Amino acid sequence: MLFRELGLCNSLCETVEQLGYTEPTPIQSKAIPLVLSGKDLLAAAQTGTGKTAAFSLPIINQMLKEPIAVSSEKKVRCLVLVPTRELAQQVFEAVVSFSKETSLRCVAVYGGTSIKAQRDALKLGCDIVVATPGRLLDHHHCGHISLKHVEHFVLDEADRMLDMGFKPDIQRVLRHLKPQRQTLLFSATFTPQIKELAYKLLNEPEEVEASEQNSTAATVKEMLYPVDKQKKAALLAYLIGSRNWQQVLVFTRTKEGSDKLAKELKLDGIKAVSINGDKSQGARTKALEDFKTGQVRALIATDVAARGLDIPQLDQVVNFDLPFKAEDYVHRIGRTGRAGREGLAVSLMSHDQEYLLTPIENLLDRRLPQEWLAGFEPSPTPVNDKPDQPRQRKGRNRDKQKLKAKLKIHAGRGKKKS
Ligand code: AMP
Repeated sequence: MLFRELGLCNSLCETVEQLGYTEPTPIQSKAIPLVLSGKDLLAAAQTGTGKTAAFSLPIINQMLKEPIAVSSEKKVRCLVLVPTRELAQQVFEAVVSFSKETSLRCVAVYGGTSIKAQRDALKLGCDIVVATPGRLLDHHHCGHISLKHVEHFVLDEADRMLDMGFKPDIQRVLRHLKPQRQTLLFSATFTPQIKELAYKLLNEPEEVEASEQNSTAATVKEMLYPVDKQKKAALLAYLIGSRNWQQVLVFTRTKEGSDKLAKELKLDGIKAVSINGDKSQGARTKALEDFKTGQVRALIATDVAARGLDIPQLDQVVNFDLPFKAEDYVHRIGRTGRAGREGLAVSLMSHDQEYLLTPIENLLDRRLPQEWLAGFEPSPTPVNDKPDQPRQRKGRNRDKQKLKAKLKIHAGRGKKKS
């Protein structure tokens, strides 16, 4: 299939060719004709599937055809809401590259950077705004932006938006949009909450899917290493060094954990940097840039910070901590093995996190291969390993009991056969 066959205009087809895209990705082939026809869309697609072009190209195509008001003032006709600053910057850069041969103007609006500079950019007038919800509402509140002319509304990474508690902000933004508009919702997973949101937001949507739900790419090799908590950092340093990994994305569950691990790896002579919500925008951008250019070998990130980072050709991903949410395992692993490339996903599991394995394996509907690494075998009786659980509210005792039951099921799992 060629881009030309999807109904995009010649100049956009030429632009994507110049960008080196030879053929559309599956989500692009499915979504572009539907978006061009003006339909609402519910799309299951993760980062790395080419989803940004899947919504940007047909929207730009439509905007080029839409009659523009006689007034010379530029009005926001497309709003893309994203959960994180990094994703806002990435989507902005993609939209700018797709619209470079047009007169359309795009502005990115997100927290952590000067609100004044964004206000000035908005004042000049723009057709497309890529925004995180909080900063967008700040600008709206101050009268820097009007949303009443928005014809195309995209909610990108909707599942992460809800995880990050953006539902009230999304609802506030919606109140400022006109009901007659095209709405596209992209999400990596379809939880009941996403379905509920989609039901409220979309009008007779078409549904498209980039890949099988809750599955990991067939080209990703997975391995789980049971290891004592105290030896995890040493095991990671050993893997990076002995296997000569040059670029590895490592997931920790907490911001403090990401900073601590980066320090420990540096002590082992491995160039590492952490990226989390406590860092300034400048520090986060620099960390990502250093990682992309190979000046840093290990990028240590929390799920939130890593969400949506576009790092092409990532060969290794490490779960230093197993995620609390099974879906996050799929998101994390989805960072490698893209576009048919081979990838490796390694998980380090200490005793205190064993109970998190069952939900992951249930979601994947298969067992993860396990191996003990010589010198890092877990001790038979866990010492000082308190179960590592999120804070739970009172009245969740039934959930706790379920978790305990899962823990019991897992006792003895992963033992090496002698
Ligand atoms: P996304 O899922 O939108 O974050 O895109 C992931 C990466 O795939 C980005 O670096 C895009 O530039 C790239 N990409 C998107 N569409 C194509 C395509 N049709 N051919 C090759 N690369 C693409």
